[in-house]
Amino acid sequence: MGGAGVTEVVSPVDGVGIGDVAASSVADVDAAVARAAVAFGTWRHVAPGDRGRLLRRFAAQVDAHLEELALLEVRNAGHTIGNARWEAGNVRDVLDYYAGAPERLTGHQIPVPGGLDVTFHEPLGVVGVIVPWNFPMPIAGWGFAPALAAGNTVVLKPAELTPLTALRLAELARDAGLPEGVFTVLPGQGSVVGERFVTHPAVRKVCFTGSTEVGTRIMAGCAAQVKRVTLELGGKSANIVFADADLEKAAATAPSAVFDNAGQDCCARSRILVQRRVYDRFLELLEPAVRAFRVEDPARETAEMGPLISAAHRDRVAGYVDGADVAFTGSRPDGPGFWYAPTVLLAGSPTDRHWRDEIFGPVVSVLPFDDEADAIRLANDTEYGLSGSIWTRDVGRAVRVARAVESGNLSVNSHSSVRYWTPFGGMKRSGLGRELGPDALHAFTDVKNVFIGTEE
Ligand code: NAD
Repeated sequence: MGGAGVTEVVSPVDGVGIGDVAASSVADVDAAVARAAVAFGTWRHVAPGDRGRLLRRFAAQVDAHLEELALLEVRNAGHTIGNARWEAGNVRDVLDYYAGAPERLTGHQIPVPGGLDVTFHEPLGVVGVIVPWNFPMPIAGWGFAPALAAGNTVVLKPAELTPLTALRLAELARDAGLPEGVFTVLPGQGSVVGERFVTHPAVRKVCFTGSTEVGTRIMAGCAAQVKRVTLELGGKSANIVFADADLEKAAATAPSAVFDNAGQDCCARSRILVQRRVYDRFLELLEPAVRAFRVEDPARETAEMGPLISAAHRDRVAGYVDGADVAFTGSRPDGPGFWYAPTVLLAGSPTDRHWRDEIFGPVVSVLPFDDEADAIRLANDTEYGLSGSIWTRDVGRAVRVARAVESGNLSVNSHSSVRYWTPFGGMKRSGLGRELGPDALHAFTDVKNVFIGTEE
């Protein structure tokens, strides 16, 4: 590599540098894409069972290095050790899940007169995956595992702040026996490496997770080549608590639903809507749960939350709290590192800035509502539509509200997180397309229809 300098990687736990990573230049990207395009010629023809076997070996490598990967993420991203183990395990599981896909990538046989009509799911070619810093491992895996299983080759750009686990995953792929050029990790700037994925004609699809602002720009760039694109963008998800809910459980679980990963989660339930007649009671129950939320060195087994990713991001988060109506806060350690205490804000109205913008930090806003229609209206009064939760004991209401809230992923009486075998993605400006689950594979293929005449 070379030509584009190096990036210093800093641990958010103590602000100390943990290494330098060479940033890829446009020439580096072009060379890697050229290798990936050549590798595609053979990878797509690897027998389905053998492609699956290689992905299973890759999964086994990840499993054998799970603790090492987890510790790397604790250091590089400040994730709690419990979360980081789940994240590395998620890469393994997603690889294992899609390792079963090559032999099952079947088309249709459609009845037609005068011949035989069949469809094929053809791989696209080189796929560019662009990853944000908040979940470096899982989001990488959600892109590369189905893309590789469908017969594509992959170039992947990790976020500038968190490249270490992706680089290690590339080594593990090589150790598992994936051929040269099939999976390449290219650390570097979004404006250099990411942009080149968009403009390079041999990159046939961009799979992007990140901010709505950058995603919009990527979609516009891809349009110039009618390039396929999947977008997983921002969120401002509602946690709707009706008066008939199990209030104790709703209040006890609300902190982790928003403060997990220090709120740097696109699915964070960062708007709590509470039915007016239980509003005071809910806040009474919420306060001790927030105060008890353990914010500490993320390497400790008991940690529930670590620091924010950077000093600049902490300043941005703090900017939303300045001048707002703070109900109560949790705790944070003193000393170095980019710490911010969990914070509960009371929204005066749905026009409040902290109610509308994705803060992407440990800050939650609470607002009362009157009835079911009011709750649905307020929940949908956002440009986003990624996830959300509904707390009620009334099954009919649960179903009605789940159908009415414009979000890709909803949970009732739980804050269900992502499962690799169910679809995940956003409505409205939260994204385009779906990842994970049985259908994600088709997002990495094009359907080809072939008619074979049988007339004499
Ligand atoms: P970001 O958009 O700034 O960066 C994301 C990635 O895009 C990084 O790798 C970055 O280098 C790259 N990038 C930046 N500019 C680019 C450009 N012009 N062309 C191509 N690539 C470019 O986002 P971030 O701050 O890293 O991540 C936080 C955001 O990600 C939040 O808004 C969050 O909601 C979102 N997110 C969404 C999901 C989801 O699944 N919907 C999951 C995680 C995070």
